[in-house]
Order: sequence, then structure tokens, then C-alpha cells
Amino acid sequence: MSEIRHWINNKPYEKSPERWGDVFNPATGLVSGRVAFAGQDDVDAAVQAAKDAFPAWRDSSISRRASIMFAFRDLVEENKEGIAKLLVAEHGKVMADALGEVQRGLEVIEFACGIPHLLKGDYSENVSTQVDTYTIRQPLGVVAGITPFNFPAMVPMWMYPIAIACGNTFVLKPSEKDPSASNFAAELFAEAGLPDGVMNIVHGDKVAVDRILEHPDIAAVSFVGSTPIAKYVYETGTSHGKRVQALGGAKNHMIVLPDADMDLAADSAVSAGYGSAGERCMAISVVVAVGDAGDRLVEKMQERMAGLKVGPGDEPDMDMGPLVTEVHRDKVAGYIDAGVDEGATLVADGRGFAPEGNEDGFFLGPTLFDNVTPDMTIYQDEIFGPVLDVVRVDHYEDAIKLINDNPWGNGTAVFTNDGGAARKFQNEIQVGMVGINVPIPVPLGFYSFGGWKDSIFGSHSIYGPEGIHFYTRPKVIISRWADPIHRGVDLGFPQHK
Ligand code: NAD
Repeated sequence: MSEIRHWINNKPYEKSPERWGDVFNPATGLVSGRVAFAGQDDVDAAVQAAKDAFPAWRDSSISRRASIMFAFRDLVEENKEGIAKLLVAEHGKVMADALGEVQRGLEVIEFACGIPHLLKGDYSENVSTQVDTYTIRQPLGVVAGITPFNFPAMVPMWMYPIAIACGNTFVLKPSEKDPSASNFAAELFAEAGLPDGVMNIVHGDKVAVDRILEHPDIAAVSFVGSTPIAKYVYETGTSHGKRVQALGGAKNHMIVLPDADMDLAADSAVSAGYGSAGERCMAISVVVAVGDAGDRLVEKMQERMAGLKVGPGDEPDMDMGPLVTEVHRDKVAGYIDAGVDEGATLVADGRGFAPEGNEDGFFLGPTLFDNVTPDMTIYQDEIFGPVLDVVRVDHYEDAIKLINDNPWGNGTAVFTNDGGAARKFQNEIQVGMVGINVPIPVPLGFYSFGGWKDSIFGSHSIYGPEGIHFYTRPKVIISRWADPIHRGVDLGFPQHK
């Protein structure tokens, strides 16, 4: 049984918490450890450590910050497999997917290694006689991150490497469902030479989140999770004067036009729908088949689904693991019941699936519904499980309208061989991340990630250049350094001559 404590000042926090939470292995259904749940005092201790560390860290040279980031990058690379094993054990995803998650986190760390270049300001000489103007970007202070269960390593890495490289100090509140990867990464960061107090972790639930949102010494909060909590975090955090970026949930549509490469579309729909058991904010959950694409596509998807291997994530060659908790598995199974009740055609039913030897794990097989209509619960709600809806429409315009009418706008994709149709899509679609013959358009670390509409609250998307902007404040300086020219008092507005 593992015991995961808060991480403050580069070590596990010794004070025993008043509450602990269970951590499960979703493949066995058994409790594998316990995690500390922070009270207000624990959050205050982490924030105090971060506050104490801030003055020295913000004044440390950019090259020192970069070299610590490079060392951290190397340690994460060396320990990729160790981190991935923790993800498999607590989240349930399969090993190949877990390794991919660490890789995508590494890309953001690599972006943060470029901080000397990224923090360059601009400079205009002689904006007026002997007067120069320039901007610098300065860190905010103590910033916090609150993260979801589905990417326990990568999503925190969307935040803290950039925040810390910019000169901020950090308090992370990871998901209580799979907390170990964050502590492991913090240990590696300490080994890389990060000073005490720069990166701190508090574990727990709403109590910890609420203290973060109201804490007077926290300047900004990054949140990734479901839409209702994202909205709550945004509204509460901003009402306490904080800068907040809050990324929410999704219902990602993939349009398939009749001229598309149907094999590519079927491969993509199945991979993007069932990868990580559908527990991805960029998973495809609705396939919109236009015109006569539907029959060909559904047939090809069924062929591929028949070959999917579902089982414990640490067994070789598995395609899909269990869901994260029993409660979540049962909730997703409940959506399948609702889809049947509401009249959708159940093409593949994952309910009751239990791999031999792991009957108590939180498993559900891949599920496919055809003839789904927008009034059905399985269309309207984010299911966040291995359930894929096929909606059939007559025309391309109907498919675009369906997506634009949807309250979420995280990711979307179109599959076509018509360049004009693809161009129309990128121009008209009301979604933040768009794939053209690419089902999961997650940008690399040097672009920024973020949806539109109810998939984000706040004006900054996450990591990449937007991350640098979120974690810094610009300051503009107008300076005169020259032979003193004494023109005398002049109450007029300067005319820059
Ligand atoms: P969640 O909203 O339940 O939890 C996210 C975080 O908020 C966790 O740290 C949790 O402890 C905390 N939290 C939960 N309930 C709270 C409450 N009532 N008050 C305060 N804090 C609370 O999300 P989840 O189930 O962990 O993750 C899945 C969700 O995250 C999905 O909706 C998914 O789409 C979304 N997600 C979005 C993105 C994105 O980039 N847009 C990325 C990954 C996941």
C-alpha cells in the first residue's frame, strides 16, 4: 500500500492529514494506496513555502532556470517508464498510451527549456528624442494548478514547467484519483536542482480547491477538468481577484464526408473514440456521417472494433484498459442504458464486459451507437467513456451546424479529400482545435491548447506562447538616458519631437 503525502519544500509533508482518500488500481478494483486530503492549514503551508521561495526564484538568472529545466527534462526522459507505470497502476490506461502521455508532457518541458528566448522583450530606441521604450515580462508570484484524473502526468506538465520557468513558484492540486505521478515528477524536479518551495503539491478535494481559490497570496490559477467545475473555479477565482484560465469538458465531433478515405476515417474514429477508454477531453465522441458515408463507415468501424483487446493496462498489447473508478464505470454504463431507452441503434454493447482474472476491475467494452439524434442524452452529455455515437445527416451544412450549435468547442475533425470542403470547415467551425484528416488535433508544446465556448473560461489557452503570457505580466518602461536637456516645465502632453 502506497502512501502519498503533500509535497512541500522539496519533501513529503510530515504533518499527518486529518483525512485520507483511497487510491484504487482500476484493473483489479482493489485499493492500492492512500492519499492525504489537505485541510486549509495544509494549503496555507504550501502557499507559504511558495511565497517564501518566490523572491529568490524570480531573481535567479534565466539561464539558471533554463539549465534546471534541461536537467528536469533529462530526468523525466530517463524515468519515462517509471512514470508511465504509475499512470497504468492508478489511471488504468495501457502502457503504450501512458508512455505517449509522458512524451506529450515532455514536449511542454522542452518548450519551457527555451525560456531565455521566450522571455525576450521588445525595445524601441528614440521614441522621442533620447527616450527609449521597452517591455519586460515579469512573473506573477505564487500560482496554482488544479488538474483532472485523465492525464495525471501530462496536464500538470502543461502548467508548472512554464509557470516555474517564467519565475513563478507553484502549488499543484492534482486529481485525488491518481496522485502518485505528480509526487514522482516533483522528486525529479528537486533532483534537477529546483530550490525548496518553488514546486509544491497539495492533494485532496474541494476543501483544497476552495482554499486555493480564496487564498490572498495566490495570484493566478490554471484549471483543467469538467465544465461545471471549470466555470465554478473561474467565477470563484476571479471574484477573489485572481487571473484564471479554466479548461472544461468536451463533446468532440468528427465529420466524415462521402469522398473521405473510409479506411482512414474508420481507423481514426475507432482510435480516437476508444483510446484511453474514451477518457480524453479530445476523444472523438460523435461521428457525423454525411450522405451515404454512414453505412460504409459503420461497417468498417465494426470490423476494427472486433479486433480491440481490452484488459489490464500492464498486460502486453492491450488496446484499452478499465475506467478510472467503479462509480464512473457505472455512470457510463447508465448512459448506454439511456441510449437504448431513447431509441438509438446499439451496434456494439460494452456492458458487462469483464476480462478473465480481472472480474472486479472497472471494465467496460467499446460501445457503438448508430442513428443517434441530438435530442438524446447520449448526444447531449459528455460521457467520458468508450461510447461512440454515430449521427447521420444529409448535407455537409447540417454537420457544420450541428457542431456550431453544440455548447462545447474543444476539438473537432473533418475527413475528406476535398480541399475546398476542408477549407470551409476550418473557416466556419466554432471550435478551438481543428483536425483535417487528423482525429485528435492536440497541438505540440510550442503552440497553445484550448477550446472555445463551454470548453474554456478565461482569455488564455494553455501552454505554448499563451502559457508564457498567462504566467507573466507585461511592464512597459519609458526611459531617458542622455545628456540632461533642461527644457523647463511644460504642462502640455508630450509630442515626441
Ligand atoms: P473534475 O472537474 O471532476 O475534477 C478536476 C479537478 O477539480 C480535480 O482536481 C478535482 O479534485 C477538482 N474538483 C472536483 N470536484 C470539485 C468541486 N466540486 N469543487 C472544487 N474542486 C473540485 O474532472 P475529472 O473528472 O477529474 O476529469 C475529467 C474532466 O476533465 C472531463 O470533463 C474532461 O473533458 C475534462 N478535461 C478537459 C481537458 C481540457 O483540456 N479541456 C483536459 C483533460 C480533461
